[in-house]
Amino acid sequence: MLYGNKNKEAIKSLSTGYGSRKTGSNIPKYKLNDDPLDAKVARGLIENQLLDEGNSRLNLATFCQTFMEREAVELMSNTLDKNAIDKSEYPQTAELENRCVNIIANLWNASPQEEYLGTSTVGSSEACMLAGMAMKFRWRNAAVKRGIDINKQKPNLIISAAYQVCWEKFCVYWDIEMRQVPIDKENFTLDVDRAMSYVDEYTIGIVGIMGTTYTGAYDDIEALDEAVSRYNESHQHQLVIHIDGASGGMFVPFTEPELKWDFRLPNVVSISTSGHKYGLTYPGVGWVVWRDKKYLPEELIFEVSYLGGSMPTMAINFSRSASQIVAQYYNFLRYGRQGYSQIQKKTQEVAMMICDAIKATGLFDIYNDGSRMPIICYKLKESAAYQDGTDVKWNLYDLSDRLRMHGWQVPAYPLPKDMSKTTIQRVVCRADLTYNLAEAFIQDFQSCVEELKKAHILCNEEKDGAYGFTH
Ligand SMILES: *Cc1c(COP(=O)(O)O)cnc(C)c1O
Repeated sequence: MLYGNKNKEAIKSLSTGYGSRKTGSNIPKYKLNDDPLDAKVARGLIENQLLDEGNSRLNLATFCQTFMEREAVELMSNTLDKNAIDKSEYPQTAELENRCVNIIANLWNASPQEEYLGTSTVGSSEACMLAGMAMKFRWRNAAVKRGIDINKQKPNLIISAAYQVCWEKFCVYWDIEMRQVPIDKENFTLDVDRAMSYVDEYTIGIVGIMGTTYTGAYDDIEALDEAVSRYNESHQHQLVIHIDGASGGMFVPFTEPELKWDFRLPNVVSISTSGHKYGLTYPGVGWVVWRDKKYLPEELIFEVSYLGGSMPTMAINFSRSASQIVAQYYNFLRYGRQGYSQIQKKTQEVAMMICDAIKATGLFDIYNDGSRMPIICYKLKESAAYQDGTDVKWNLYDLSDRLRMHGWQVPAYPLPKDMSKTTIQRVVCRADLTYNLAEAFIQDFQSCVEELKKAHILCNEEKDGAYGFTH
């Protein structure tokens, strides 16, 4: 959202609570107040303002972490002053970041024989931006060497139409043609043959998505990698794959360790993830790792001072608090491999339990049942009817509204390009959705479906062409 002129607003001042010294005084909303306020009054005003907001634990729309342990929260609040970029003043914080990168590279099966390297970011969007830039610069350097006229056409990036909006930003900011592959109609994932048919000398790389934001489905990275190997055998132009593992990157290593989607595949050169999704850390932290330093062009590396010497960094942003990095390291230390596996598997079980209940209504076709990514995704059946024969007259937007009355946020939205006539609804299960909360959700879901049967007023039309729900 962009914000603008608020001078025409009717109520331009804040009112303080009863009995405070400032009661009745005018505190402007859209201009800096002249006099300072008492700390308590200021805090109270802000807390009141924020009362009327959803409860994040009941928000089943987001992949972002909504719960951390008290110890982690205290650790974060005690480290808010540390600046992540200031490696010289905070060398121990830098060491924690270094450990996180190594832990993550190891989870993604980076080879100890290769010189892998990576960095923390604000989230997956920055991580994807860095990985995309590396692909662009590497492509350009190689194309110039091969004698290609790099100005003849725009470089392009190939990705499934179920991409997250950060890739569209990347392509706009860096002047790259985005070649969207319509999603495979059965699995809602990248159609590998079709993706390969989009490749030319100007392709900087192909992005595979581990856990699309639309349905949580995993692209078939092993098949993509084989196709890329075949291409690379017969071409001078060498294709590379980046994996957008915003949600899957911190999930699959614990739930499907045998699945090959990561650095075990030779053409996967970089992987990004959000620490604040299934990395179980509060927003915003993300990570990107390259399998070897040769995939990260030197032009993109900048030196910052570090203990009298200098240290290479790669980031779009400069200063930010290191507390999220500290929190990520806390999670790694606290849970270990076993702890992460238990948490992620429990989340899957909760998802499947919710899915069974949704299925049992008989009204929905299930697209994703939560047995892989813990995301349940469904649409209303064609001419859906209740068991007593009553036709369903409502749509998923009405169901969304109804759930909202019980405090739950569950979005409905159209599928991407070529399938945008299909509206789906998505329930994202996170670690803090306990069995008890899930039971409460199921009861509310069932009663919403019953309430809608008797509804007289339905408000929403089907929408077409709007974005999917992207976080
Ligand atoms: C959430 C998401 C992103 C963006 O992640 P942020 O950490 O919010 O910047 C990118 N790609 C996919 C597939 C996502 O699910």
